[in-house]
Amino acid sequence: MSTRASQYAARVEHRERLSPHLVRLTLAVDGGFRSTGIPDEWVGLVVPGQFQSRYYTVRSHGDGALVLDVVLHEVGLVTEWVVRDDCVGSEVTVTEPKGSFDPPPEAAWLLLVGDLTALPAMARVAETTTLPTRIWAEVPDDLATYLPPGADVTWLETPAGGSSRLAETVESLDWPEGDGYFWMAGESAQMRAIRKFLMRERRLPASAYDVMGYWRAAAARQPRAVDPGPIWRAGKAQGLSDEQIWAQYDEAQQKTAQA
Ligand SMILES: Cc1cc2nc3c(=O)[nH]c(=O)nc-3n(C[C@H](O)[C@H](O)[C@H](O)COP(=O)(O)OP(=O)(O)OC[C@H]3O[C@@H](n4cnc5c(N)ncnc54)[C@H](O)[C@@H]3O)c2cc1C
Repeated sequence: MSTRASQYAARVEHRERLSPHLVRLTLAVDGGFRSTGIPDEWVGLVVPGQFQSRYYTVRSHGDGALVLDVVLHEVGLVTEWVVRDDCVGSEVTVTEPKGSFDPPPEAAWLLLVGDLTALPAMARVAETTTLPTRIWAEVPDDLATYLPPGADVTWLETPAGGSSRLAETVESLDWPEGDGYFWMAGESAQMRAIRKFLMRERRLPASAYDVMGYWRAAAARQPRAVDPGPIWRAGKAQGLSDEQIWAQYDEAQQKTAQA
């Protein structure tokens, strides 16, 4: 099985500052690009002069326009590029989209939890699902109008210093009765803690949740990015669950950071 993902040429047409830490890019993308329709689908983005990808949720796609909402970290490769004067007009590359959100047929509700990097996916899920949905979003900015009107959202302020408290939040949630689906994404250390909690304390089957480390708060720039695409495809080919695949991705990221 090939582990090479298709790539598409794209051009940054428009940039909009949605909030102090969130920048919307609208790309004109090659006509061959097709959305998977999975609401948390993501693409790899390679910006000019780089070979490493960074991963961004497809906030929307249609009529050749691909919208990505990019979080400004304190430092970072895309973070630094996206605020540059020459960002608009840049030729970039995006990889074919992949999605992970997969509630079981019996799910009667959704719980979505994430930090600012997860907000685009949570917004897309909230816009498209018919299930009752509760959202916890830990963000540093006022983004009250980002989610669809009427969304049942609890806004949590990103703690001073940027360290997330999402794991604590999840551990004290009142869970709805019956079967549902729990989706969470954000800083990887928080995600590892939550996986343990869901398995050991809540004893959820792997099909009832999806917990993804979207980025790592690190003391130094990581020299090599770990591409989730090949890990995803190899995991699927081996019949692994989404949970097992994301745990492998976290592990690979950790090994890379330690190398
Ligand atoms: C499936 C998926 C979907 C995602 N969707 C989105 C999305 O829609 N929007 C979004 O914004 N993000 C999203 N992310 C997260 C995004 O890919 C990461 O946050 C990415 O690392 C950002 O890239 P960057 O080049 O700005 O920062 P990177 O270069 O990757 O750096 C990120 C972090 O590393 C540390 N770091 C890097 N360099 C230094 C340095 N020199 N000194 C100290 N610390 C440093 C900092 O903690 C920094 O905040 C997604 C990730 C995945 C896996």
